[in-house]
Amino acid sequence: MAEGRQIPHHGEAIVLRTWPFHEADLLVSLFTREHGKVKGTARHAMKSRKRFGGALEPATHVRAHYTERPHQELVRLDQFEILWSPLTAPVDTLRLAALQLVTEVLEEAMPDQATDDNIFRLALTVLTSIQSTASVAASTVIPSTGCPIFDPGCAIHTLAPERMGGEAQAASPAQTLTQSIYLPITYFCLWMNRLMGWMPALGHCAACGLHLSDPTLRDQTVYWSPTADGVTCRDDRRPQSRALSAASVTEVHRIFRTPLADLLAESRSPVHSADLRIFAIATLERHLERRLRSATALFAH
Ligand SMILES: [Zn+2]
Repeated sequence: MAEGRQIPHHGEAIVLRTWPFHEADLLVSLFTREHGKVKGTARHAMKSRKRFGGALEPATHVRAHYTERPHQELVRLDQFEILWSPLTAPVDTLRLAALQLVTEVLEEAMPDQATDDNIFRLALTVLTSIQSTASVAASTVIPSTGCPIFDPGCAIHTLAPERMGGEAQAASPAQTLTQSIYLPITYFCLWMNRLMGWMPALGHCAACGLHLSDPTLRDQTVYWSPTADGVTCRDDRRPQSRALSAASVTEVHRIFRTPLADLLAESRSPVHSADLRIFAIATLERHLERRLRSATALFAH
């Protein structure tokens, strides 16, 4: 920090967490786009909501105005403008837990003042994609027709189901949950592992070097351990290993080469099995060396 000089900053940030501080102040952790994670104080934020309004709600994307002060570790938060707020859409328990998972991982994983634009963009994409299951259920209707080809560009399928003489078939609860919560969260956790350099190679057994996706293999399931690096074949699986099915390994590769919006827009997103989600979260937890509170809430459902 410059000697004896106040430095004003103005830029995009995501609110990660707030704590009560002194009598009426809030301590706020922010992931800023230009300067990474920054902590600061919002004076009188508990009493007067005029300057900050709902902008201090965790997961809010803001334009933050703050000032670095000489000899002070904490910045002074001056004013926030909301660019996107999680509160503009319905918040149910699951959506809240999913939003919290993103902010909790960023809070735990990002070192102070380490800039990472890829992670910033990932977080924004995922936060704005997480929806309440009720919102997704209300907007998703899968047309049921006799046509064997489901092509979103096909003229037949652009007609309303009743005009096709078919019946509208609502997405199943499992599909709705995948679209609203599980796909964005799995996408976030896998990409965080990759961007942090924590993603194990899934193609080879860490013990014997066997090519695990070899099509001639009878069992392409891979095994991972919450306490060890890499994945293994069945024969070399370690104590307390868990399985990751061949289908889930394929899904990992698909997630790494497809934007989240495209995955969500696919008319029939596969229902994600729990093994992939558990693997993605456990890999994060192993490197963070702690359990994620929000993941526990997410799995309670
Ligand atoms: Zn092996």
